[in-house]
Amino acid sequence: MKAILEDKFGRRFQYLRLSVTDVCNFRCSYCLPDGYQCDSDRDFLSQAEIKTIAAAFAGLGTRKIRLTGGEPSLRKDLPEIIGLCANTPGIEQVALTTNGFKLPQMIGTWVEAGLNAINVSIDSLDPRHFSMITGHDKLNTILAGVDKALSAGIRVKINSVMLRPYSGTMLDQALAWLRHTPVSLRLIELMQTGDNQTFFKHNHVSGLPVKERLLEQGWIPVIRETTAGPAQEFAHPDFAGRIGLIMPYSNGFCDSCNRLRVSATGNLHLCLFAEKGLPLREYLQEADVGVLQTQLKALIGHKEASHWLDKGFTGATTHLAMLGG
Ligand code: SAM
Ligand code: SF4
Repeated sequence: MKAILEDKFGRRFQYLRLSVTDVCNFRCSYCLPDGYQCDSDRDFLSQAEIKTIAAAFAGLGTRKIRLTGGEPSLRKDLPEIIGLCANTPGIEQVALTTNGFKLPQMIGTWVEAGLNAINVSIDSLDPRHFSMITGHDKLNTILAGVDKALSAGIRVKINSVMLRPYSGTMLDQALAWLRHTPVSLRLIELMQTGDNQTFFKHNHVSGLPVKERLLEQGWIPVIRETTAGPAQEFAHPDFAGRIGLIMPYSNGFCDSCNRLRVSATGNLHLCLFAEKGLPLREYLQEADVGVLQTQLKALIGHKEASHWLDKGFTGATTHLAMLGG
């Protein structure tokens, strides 16, 4: 029988989020409001190490790898990384989460390398709001990149973090865009991290009123795939796109957790908000897939039932750029 990564709560992990850098060029107000701060030398995972990680996870049942960061497109060897993940036996899907600033020029190369799906972060469809949130006046470039990604035939999702000052207009703008644009736009509740406590207090809004409004307007819940993310997704016959909600503060959010995370410096994070990362790097040196798999099977036993975010617990996560969201 094939070995599989399963924790003591019976959750199975078929989805790996792999951060390839924690560097970012944006200054999103909820993530890196002062921009990326390089406080020490960083030695990010090499292609050889990523190959070992991909092979070990795939051998334990992982079918989907999402590359993230920081901003993963800042790595010049991203096409090679996509390629080696896509060519790992057992990996059926390679996805990327990006702020999208390189989309127009790079999407063709990424798809050629084996990319199947992309998540682009667009927190507002109003160029002024977008620029205030991210520190960059790049909305139109990114939207042009989204069009190119759709033309390339890959699945496109949009991540939008809900922030109190913009939440009044956001849903209407999103729905107007989704009427004709075949993407899945996911509204994400702001999460509290070690660095954004005050910002969180002033800006967090619940997704529940949005869910009620969608149901009232005839949006229908869609059934999830086993490798799908944590979004509750809704479809409507009059709209080309779908809309999703990610509500980490709602009851039962962790029950269907199906993902593990590896940081850009090679630490396994059993949860986005785990107490600490568990170092894997020493098992990557010899490219020994079997040794790494033995470690992963032992470490999975420490995975907790919940992130305890509702109790204000943020673990070792100071901001999500360090791990990839
Ligand atoms: N730089 C890439 C990007 O922005 O798509 C990838 C990394 S970013 C950390 C991944 C996702 O996490 C983004 O969609 C971002 O909006 C989201 N994110 C970051 N900090 C967050 C927070 N405190 N709460 C909710 N989502 C957050
Ligand atoms: Fe950078 Fe993504 Fe964080 Fe924005 S959310 S600062 S793009 S890592």
